[in-house]
Amino acid sequence: MLTRRQFVEMVGAAAFWPAAGPRDAPIGEWGSPVFDLHFHMRGQTAANLTHLDGAGITSANLLTRAAGSDQVRTLQAGAPGRFTWFCSADPSTAEGVDVLTASVKSGARGFGEMKYHLATDGPEFRRVYALAAELRVPILIHFQEVDHFDKEGTWSPGFARSFERILKAYPRTTFIGHADAFWANVSADYRNEAAYPSGPIVRGGITDKLLGDYPNLYGDVSANSGNNMLSRDPAFTADFLRRHQDKLLFGSDCGCTDGHGGGVSQGNNPGAARLAGKCVARETLTVLKRFTSPEIFRKITWDNAHSLLQMSA
Ligand SMILES: [Zn+2]
Ligand SMILES: [Zn+2]
Repeated sequence: MLTRRQFVEMVGAAAFWPAAGPRDAPIGEWGSPVFDLHFHMRGQTAANLTHLDGAGITSANLLTRAAGSDQVRTLQAGAPGRFTWFCSADPSTAEGVDVLTASVKSGARGFGEMKYHLATDGPEFRRVYALAAELRVPILIHFQEVDHFDKEGTWSPGFARSFERILKAYPRTTFIGHADAFWANVSADYRNEAAYPSGPIVRGGITDKLLGDYPNLYGDVSANSGNNMLSRDPAFTADFLRRHQDKLLFGSDCGCTDGHGGGVSQGNNPGAARLAGKCVARETLTVLKRFTSPEIFRKITWDNAHSLLQMSA
């Protein structure tokens, strides 16, 4: 564990707000403070702040396995108020379920990113849906039916077919949907034919309907999947953001090094080539800004996450 002083020397004084606390968060270049719900913790401690600072992001939710919990604490101690965390663990093992519980008891504010080759309505996931309700934390799930790479396999398959049943069966569980199948199903004509469908959205898609009908469902607009959905049909986007302004959460899922598109932003996924060389955080914040009022922008990039994670805004 680093001391705060060692941490300051390592990452520089820019890591800190003048007065630590969310209320004092700087407004920054986006016109309101920004919380990145979907930020995978980087191995190098200083690299985490480099991305936040580079993209103009105030604070972020670290998504990690429990094995990263010491580094989470180092970051939280070194940059007060800038990092929350969600823990992920394999729901198909008893140890995984124990780790999720222990992590929440030691400060994790949710489960995620839950990305496993297990059915959306299978017994393994059902067990953690119930646990999330019991511990009163949200669960962030990656839904994907179409491979990005040869033999990748599906992640939480069965979203379109079975997720409404889950929302009904677990009304006390707060779900946060994310990734390809979740966002492709905003369009009613989607049949798993492509990871990232393009062209105009057919109104009445499953995800749009579920966000409207179920108070326990939220949407994380991170990654190419979220950005693509918000970009494919400008005539649809503003109305979609207005209707679900209390249910959507900004996240980046960006892997770029510097908050300006350096390095690799989407894991060399060929289907996400439209974002190659770009910072996904910047691209999605730009789309959100273009299609929202300042009030709605602030809800999606700051207020909604603070309510959901029970943090003062
Ligand atoms: Zn994901
Ligand atoms: Zn980036």
